Amino acid sequence: MNENKYDVIVIGAGPAGYPASIRAAQNGLTVACIDEWKNRDGSHSYGGTCLNAGCIPSKVLLESSELYFRSKSEFKEHGVVIDKVGLDLGVMQARKGNIVRQLTRGIEALLKSNGVEAIRGHGHLIDGTTVEVTDAEGKRKMVHGDNIILATGSMPMALPEAPLHNSLVVDSWGALEFEEVPERLGVIGSGVVGLELGSVWQRLGSKVVILEALGDFLPMVDLDVAREVHRSLRGQGLDIRLDARVTGTAIGENDVTVTYIVDGESHNLEVDRLVVCVGRRPFTDGLFGENAGVELDNRGFICVDNSCRTAVPTVWAIGDVVRGPMLAHKGTEEGVMVADLIAGKFGEVSYKIIPSVIYTSPEVSWVGETEAEVKASGIAYKVGTFPFLANSRAKSMDQSKGLVKLIAAQDDNGILGVHIVGPLAGELIAEAVLAMEFSASVEDLQRTMHAHPTLSEALHEAALSADGNAIHMINN
Ligand code: FAD
Ligand code: NAD
Repeated sequence: MNENKYDVIVIGAGPAGYPASIRAAQNGLTVACIDEWKNRDGSHSYGGTCLNAGCIPSKVLLESSELYFRSKSEFKEHGVVIDKVGLDLGVMQARKGNIVRQLTRGIEALLKSNGVEAIRGHGHLIDGTTVEVTDAEGKRKMVHGDNIILATGSMPMALPEAPLHNSLVVDSWGALEFEEVPERLGVIGSGVVGLELGSVWQRLGSKVVILEALGDFLPMVDLDVAREVHRSLRGQGLDIRLDARVTGTAIGENDVTVTYIVDGESHNLEVDRLVVCVGRRPFTDGLFGENAGVELDNRGFICVDNSCRTAVPTVWAIGDVVRGPMLAHKGTEEGVMVADLIAGKFGEVSYKIIPSVIYTSPEVSWVGETEAEVKASGIAYKVGTFPFLANSRAKSMDQSKGLVKLIAAQDDNGILGVHIVGPLAGELIAEAVLAMEFSASVEDLQRTMHAHPTLSEALHEAALSADGNAIHMINN
């Protein structure tokens, strides 16, 4: 065999590309996975944005900061008395770094143990079966594949009114790396990153102001849930200013002044650090040669069909670089689907049943349609809700804020959407995802036994409540 010829070449080793490589190898195909990730110190590691600068480091800091915050504000309610709670941010950041290192090395080991040839360098698609790889020293070589999977991910979107500036104005990656807790932190964008990272630093002591251009808070979330999240986060001290359009920034020696307009009136906000998190854009810089033949849409996403095929029959694209929500698990499922399709097996992604989680406190999760979407579709529907206040496990955890909301079709009882705000909402949503994936009806959920006392009983009760039959609810 030609040493530069593979059945499958994957460009990108994030949560879309590395599982695609592993599944293709499991299917008996020869695979090369090319990745150019660069850490701040110039070193390389696998796992892309998710492991190095996204999902994992943010969740590690969310966990640590929540422990710190709860130990200061809630432990005494449990009768746990700690004289003085201190913060060692250096230890917290080092722990995060260790976890990221362990997990990224784990990916390298997985690629190796599955026989995937991991190649460090930049991949450039020459045509439907050829990729030019440039390594860190600038050395080039051609590799050939019967099939090529593009999994090059996304980058933070820039905001011309607030250009990044050293450690003063940073993107989401920069905001995961602060070495001191900023006294005053400004955040532009109250999307998922803004709320998660705003929460981290607010819990650690920053006074956080979030400026959001839209008038609606979390417009993609069901309205009842979004209202509850808004109330909870404001109660914790996050200052979320809606309808606030940023018009400029002025850099001081150690601070930043942000100018923004609300209702036609200009305001100034002085902060010690500013995070810009106004969304991400698909990343295809330097990816395509003249004869690549792959098409992009007007927002820069690679055009694909439902099976992630591009216009070139041998080239596929998956993850953040194609349409759909920018979520790690969505990219992973696409990668597995494509690797199976290439091997001649069945493969499909349920695009209507993708769970989303926001890891604030309380957590937020959902799957399927919001009530507003169901209403707009004209389907006759019913709604069941259940508050965590009436759930004994949530009560014992002292985490009884929030609710479960379930929306189902009147005619066939089909579950159309489930929305949760409350403790471990990100774990609880898995049951709803499975129920929807198996086309379970509300009655199936109602007749399913749930262990007591568990948080999952709240979903059970919400299903019962859709027919007015919740057991632990007054005025059902
Ligand atoms: P990426 O993870 O971006 O990986 C792409 C890889 O391809 C990178 O290593 C890149 O260097 C490499 N690459 C790009 N171009 C080339 C090239 N030409 N040649 C070689 N290599 C190339 N999602 C969740 O589901 N849950 C979360 O909790 C979550 N938290 C997040 C928190 C933050 C702060 C951020 C920023 C994102 C978060 N996300 C989360 C989103 C998640 O990180 C992305 O959806 C996911 O990483 C996309 O995976 P991907 O494989 O498509 O791309
Ligand atoms: P986002 O799209 O979630 O939110 C960006 C926010 O910025 C929006 O509310 C938008 O209205 C606002 N905005 C845009 N321009 C603005 C301006 N000029 N001034 C003020 N506000 C402005 O994007 P994000 O928070 O940057 O996250 C990027 C992606 O990463 C998302 O697609 C998300 O799915 C993914 N992510 C997921 C998780 C998770 O799954 N828990 C966590 C973090 C990130």
